Amino acid sequence: MFFSDRSLSGHAPPKPPRKRKHDSIELVQSALKYINRTRWLWIGTRGVSYWLWKNDWLKAELKSHMDQERLIGPNELTGTMEILDRLFFGGLLHPHVLVQWRSDMGDQVGITTFDSDDNGNALISLSPKRAALAGQTPTQAIISNLLHEMCHAYILIYACFGECERPQCKKPHPTYIQKIGAKGHGRAWQMLAAAVEARANKVLGIRVDLERVTAAWTEYQKSGVWPSNGDVQRLFGGVAPRDQEVLPATVWFDLS
Ligand SMILES: [Zn+2]
Ligand SMILES: [Zn+2]
Repeated sequence: MFFSDRSLSGHAPPKPPRKRKHDSIELVQSALKYINRTRWLWIGTRGVSYWLWKNDWLKAELKSHMDQERLIGPNELTGTMEILDRLFFGGLLHPHVLVQWRSDMGDQVGITTFDSDDNGNALISLSPKRAALAGQTPTQAIISNLLHEMCHAYILIYACFGECERPQCKKPHPTYIQKIGAKGHGRAWQMLAAAVEARANKVLGIRVDLERVTAAWTEYQKSGVWPSNGDVQRLFGGVAPRDQEVLPATVWFDLS
């Protein structure tokens, strides 16, 4: 019997990823290599997307919207998602992800759903009500919110959620809760979001905040899972997440 296509987790290595097939941590570790690839190796569609972001999108579109405090339209939202996908997720998301504005989500500012019946595609819904962090412009809020949800989509589409029939890939197994999380903000999402946030803040030219601390705190309240000391160092700069980072008053953006 050959095990060469199997990793330590018992899942196939995520290169290239296939839908719902991979251990979430191994999947994210392979994404980190792409995210952190040195800038001069950004060629092909990634290089083009970076050029588009810097020369077209950021300067022309987003700045005008930022000034007007208006939301970007549905087509622009889809275009933005594709650019961010090529910059940070290897272009693996946009063929399988729809993104839309949705105004009836209660207190939630973003949600990502996955439908295995719908060809295994994900749907990202963003609320125009975005709990903007102090000093955040609408553009920063939209891009931060979108990147947060794209990290969810990546894991929802490509990680194993029990398709392998191993109990540790299913709720409520402790391994599942630790890696995926009761609210989707487990270790896999935190690792991915930390890397995307750090790289985005280096290259995009705007400040993004994926609300990782809030996510860690709400995850802890739901599941009791808390980052290890090593993860506190690696993911949170040595400062353990606390509930003091509460969402400030929400800001409604103009939908017109
Ligand atoms: Zn599995
Ligand atoms: Zn989330």
